[in-house]
Amino acid sequence: VTDWQGKHVTVAGLGVSGVPAARVLRGLGAVVTVVNDGDDERSRKQAAELEAEGITVRLGDGATLPEGTELIVTAPGWKPDKPLFAAAAEAGVPVWGDVELAWRLRGPDAAPWLAVTGTNGKTTTVQMLASILEAAGLRTAAVGNIGVSLLDAVLGDEKYDVLAVELSSYQLHWAPSLRAHSAAVLNLAPDHLDWHGSMEAYAADKGRIYEGNKVACVYNVADKATEDLVRAADVEEGCRAIGFTLGTPGPSQLGVVDDILVDRAFVENRQKQAQELAQISDVNPPAPHNIANALAAAALARAFGVEPAAVRDGLRAFRPDAHRIAHVADVDGVAYIDDSKATNTHAAEASLAAYDSIVWIAGGLAKGATFDELVAKSAKRLRGAVLIGQDRALIREALARHAPEVPVVDLDRTDTGAMSAAVREAARLAVPGDTVLMAPACASMDMFTNYNKRGEAFAEAVRALGAVGA
Ligand code: ADP
Repeated sequence: VTDWQGKHVTVAGLGVSGVPAARVLRGLGAVVTVVNDGDDERSRKQAAELEAEGITVRLGDGATLPEGTELIVTAPGWKPDKPLFAAAAEAGVPVWGDVELAWRLRGPDAAPWLAVTGTNGKTTTVQMLASILEAAGLRTAAVGNIGVSLLDAVLGDEKYDVLAVELSSYQLHWAPSLRAHSAAVLNLAPDHLDWHGSMEAYAADKGRIYEGNKVACVYNVADKATEDLVRAADVEEGCRAIGFTLGTPGPSQLGVVDDILVDRAFVENRQKQAQELAQISDVNPPAPHNIANALAAAALARAFGVEPAAVRDGLRAFRPDAHRIAHVADVDGVAYIDDSKATNTHAAEASLAAYDSIVWIAGGLAKGATFDELVAKSAKRLRGAVLIGQDRALIREALARHAPEVPVVDLDRTDTGAMSAAVREAARLAVPGDTVLMAPACASMDMFTNYNKRGEAFAEAVRALGAVGA
């Protein structure tokens, strides 16, 4: 679409993506109607603002397709089985997500996208990548769920050489024409299956990130499903499959040799077998899953032509976001780590694998997950466990089955104050040299507004502990 003047566009969902999309489309001259399921005070306020700008808003009815709609631009979270989309399919109306819109609106000399998806590690990897690109002197931004929004990055005044783009499985579902320069799928574990309908559908949506790639499709050697997605993708001629591994890399792979991150995929000097990129200690924190993130970021940067020294400098400069394996404090020789962002079992497994003797604080909303595999794999590292939150019984039962020797304190609480009680119990179980790790493997909404609040409650409790101890 190049001519938006008078085009009837329906924006589905008032929200972080819907409101800016509606404004941009209105600015281009489209006739915009926003439909929204909710009709609360906040949406009424937003609606009033948009109406004043010439945008129609229908509150409390996200199901009916407005008369004359030629295109729907949906919030990524809207489920494909919604009646609005059935009506659109019937009427032959295309549906784009926020990413598709940004992709279509980008200018002719727009910056190429280096895209990242995966069940876990997306934000971290995109930020590492942006840090590396910056170290290489490129004008760049980490865009997606955090930082700069995609529409701003594409349409704003700021000029970029390249964008590091985080994409969720929902966004990919609604972005059929996206073609990245290069892309990585970090890992694939069951998540959001209620939305996608099945593991196959979830994987297929993630796999869209590789479609039409120009230079490199980056996959995880340890996660065959990611490699299968590369093989299934239709890419441009000359586009290469590049693996990353925590072991010794094969040809066309990046990996680790003697604590050094090495690249065997993009080696300029033909005399050399591999190119050294960085030390493991340059990665922050140097936990195994995070070294994998660093290798994926390095692979994308190298695909874009970034020099090895910039990979090292960028990794050194990178600081992880809050609540992602953040070291809060040492109290009486015990380290307290906040990994509140570990909201599913796959993420918690990664952080439990990073420490040796752990008192684990876990529990919350399980979202249909099972904990047997996680507990069985982590049992030998556990000094003890303290359980909170609504679905804690599921974890307690898994511990009883796979780690019967591990002492468990079931706090039987779901109030916000439970976190400080949990930290005190964990402190009792820990001995000097241990790590108290809050990696709940569950969502936080049974007790907290979000994972940030849960992490803050943990950090506050740890500081209180330190004050008492001192
Ligand atoms: P996302 O943006 O995909 O949610 P984040 O970078 O915010 O990912 O990390 C979320 C959590 O997932 C981290 O706190 C950590 O527990 C875990 N994690 C990070 N990287 C990986 C990885 N490569 N594999 C498994 N778990 C990971």
